[in-house]
Amino acid sequence: MNWREYVRKVDPYTPGEQPKSENVIKLNTNENPYGPSDKVKNCYSDLELLKKYPDPAASDLVDALADYHKVDPGQVFVGVGSDDVLGMAFMTFFNSDRPILFPDITYSFYPVWASLFGIPYRTMALTEDYSIRPEDYMQENGGVVFPNPNAPTAKLLDLTSVEEIIKANRDRIVIVDEAYVDFAPEGSSALPLVDRYDNLLVVRTYSKSRSMAGLRIGYAIGQKELIDCLQAVKYSYNSYTMNRPSILYGCAAVADEDYFRETISKIINTREWFVKELEELGYEVLPSSANFVFASPGNMSAEEVFLKAKEKGIYFRYFKQPRIERFLRITIGTDQEMKQVVQFLKDNCT
Ligand SMILES: *Cc1c(COP(=O)(O)O)cnc(C)c1O
Repeated sequence: MNWREYVRKVDPYTPGEQPKSENVIKLNTNENPYGPSDKVKNCYSDLELLKKYPDPAASDLVDALADYHKVDPGQVFVGVGSDDVLGMAFMTFFNSDRPILFPDITYSFYPVWASLFGIPYRTMALTEDYSIRPEDYMQENGGVVFPNPNAPTAKLLDLTSVEEIIKANRDRIVIVDEAYVDFAPEGSSALPLVDRYDNLLVVRTYSKSRSMAGLRIGYAIGQKELIDCLQAVKYSYNSYTMNRPSILYGCAAVADEDYFRETISKIINTREWFVKELEELGYEVLPSSANFVFASPGNMSAEEVFLKAKEKGIYFRYFKQPRIERFLRITIGTDQEMKQVVQFLKDNCT
């Protein structure tokens, strides 16, 4: 008998690198360069607040988000980043012996949770042009999950197709991971479908559009019955997931809609400019509805560009993986950062 035989074997998720130096152009983990709203920065928190446990229901934050999205507070579940919310949702809803379905090229945490929780899964190949094909998700399954826009492709699936997937799976849960939906055209979110489909869970995060990746807030919206199921699992695992500063700052962030809109439109404008520049340099760029682009250099390998850029303190994300090894995932930073990137590429990587 050896304890090593009884250890849970996992093959963990590998997050993008977080360089220690501040003196780099960091475009590898889809953070938002503008930082939280002044309403958050000015939100005084006396550290005395840390002596008490937080409200296990995080009801101030739940109420603020319910109000913001015009749903009932009973329809909102909050967690420590959307990774926590998604992990909890996998544990709660994907509990059959039929395989869950997700795209072959997608957020690489999905197969990790599936393995951790012993959930069988099958991946559905994206089309030649890296789109999700709705028909692939209309077969026997134990649940469906996909990001929209997808990552790392940045491609959006239109809402009609999203609804078709939900409709075809009325007796199992469909999770739509909307980490990047705020950068997509108006009307792309599945949130308005929540009232009509009791099998739909929409997951959001503060990490990208709200520029608060360091705080760790994510949430899910669905019908009350789904949220109750998530709560039951959460309270069986850790009642106090949301710390008191997160609840406080999380409420302050949603109160500043102007700042939110302003930073998002800045990023979209920068993205459109950057895509044109890349195309002029001979790069192939997939149509992006996110705060990053997925681009393939014309005359050099993506890996080579990735390494050269890193040497110069410019961090992109590169996935050495079948079907996508010719691409780089580049987060949209400030105008100034992106101009430096274009100059670097012009000088070294065309
Ligand atoms: C960034 C990301 C998440 C996780 O974000 P959190 O920081 O944990 O909220 C979830 N899904 C996708 C597709 C992402 O890109």
